[in-house]
Amino acid sequence: MINSLRGFRDLLPPESDLFARIEAAAREVFGLYGYQEIRIPALEKKELFVKSTGDTTDIVEKEMYAFTDGGGREVAMRPEGTPGIVRAYIEHNLGQTGRSGKYFYIGTMFRAERPQAGRYREFTQIGAEHIGNPSPAADAESISMLIRLLEKLGVEGCSAEINSLGCAECRKAYREILLAFLRARAEKLCEPCRGRIERNPLRALDCKIDGPALAEAGPKRSLCPSCTEHFDRTQHLLAAAGVSYKVNPGLVRGLDYYTGTVFEVRTTALGSQDALCGGGRYDDLVKSMGGPVAPAIGWAIGEDRVAMLLKDKPAPDNAPRTFIVAAAKEAGDKAFALLTSMRAAGISSDFSNFELSLKSQMRSADKSGAAFALIIGEDELKAGTCAVKSLKEHGDQQTIPLPDAPSHIKQLLKG
Ligand code: AMP
Repeated sequence: MINSLRGFRDLLPPESDLFARIEAAAREVFGLYGYQEIRIPALEKKELFVKSTGDTTDIVEKEMYAFTDGGGREVAMRPEGTPGIVRAYIEHNLGQTGRSGKYFYIGTMFRAERPQAGRYREFTQIGAEHIGNPSPAADAESISMLIRLLEKLGVEGCSAEINSLGCAECRKAYREILLAFLRARAEKLCEPCRGRIERNPLRALDCKIDGPALAEAGPKRSLCPSCTEHFDRTQHLLAAAGVSYKVNPGLVRGLDYYTGTVFEVRTTALGSQDALCGGGRYDDLVKSMGGPVAPAIGWAIGEDRVAMLLKDKPAPDNAPRTFIVAAAKEAGDKAFALLTSMRAAGISSDFSNFELSLKSQMRSADKSGAAFALIIGEDELKAGTCAVKSLKEHGDQQTIPLPDAPSHIKQLLKG
């Protein structure tokens, strides 16, 4: 027997159904905000992630499924969605219209992390990217859309934290101050941070070991007047949209491309894997990847974690409405035609095996959770009718002409 790989899983019913519901809710919210879908490939040139996500980030440096393919090309399974969307935006000249573009994606991502509850090597992200709009209103819209979606899904116990990392200039100034600080205390840092400080000192802030102490004792960020104004305005608009959030000056995001507003949503309900969603502005990424000047903002939700939070909520009843039973050998054809016409009328219907005994088919009908069994026996076959039997309440069986069955059942379901 061959099992699935560690960290890779099958989504079985009812969990697969839950995923479908989450995605349907996301599509509805994206529609309200004018976001359109882009389906990006799962496999890209490795270089794409090295250049955008950053070669000193954990997901690229340690966790990427990267390999040389049969043709000698260096490729990688996508560890996140933003680089693919940005590549597509540039490759297909999507910025040409002069309008900003709002895109969403839903897809599995791959990271070779140590698997545990809520952390997988293949997991699904639902992401939104707004490319080409520098306004604080785009920040506030993106964050409030995220909160709207979580609310719509019924996710409880989450809190949004925001911060601003400043523009390239603010970051450069801060980088120098931080670098001096880190160099002076290099021997106190963990080994990976020691190796990284010269290449990317800002990464130390996101380190699980050194990050918290640095947030406490390290130099504080200061923003230029324009970044300060942008961040103030974003907060003002968030408040106007009724979004509750907390400013966390220690919040940094692990990826290289973030500038300006960054944010995360965490939950108290998931133990150590408490991050539900992360995002932020990436004003320079499109240009640095060879595209036009296109300031942007986006986020990604971990769908597997949302599903964990919603697992115990009552699922909508997806039992069939009717169950079709053939109580005579020759009735199979008519029963199959009835099944087809019920479904064509939009009434979910099911059957087991028309060749089995009446008793066995009725047992399956009961188990299915259907409201009504529609039975065609010898008499019904002759008369062109079917018997309608309620499976929920005791009552008389009614006989109705076959062509009336869909409208009759619709009436009964209404009542
Ligand atoms: P990130 O791109 O790392 O900010 O991830 C965005 C969201 O994806 C996180 O907040 C998590 O909800 C989810 N996520 C990240 N890594 C994993 C993983 N290995 N397994 C499941 N969900 C993940």
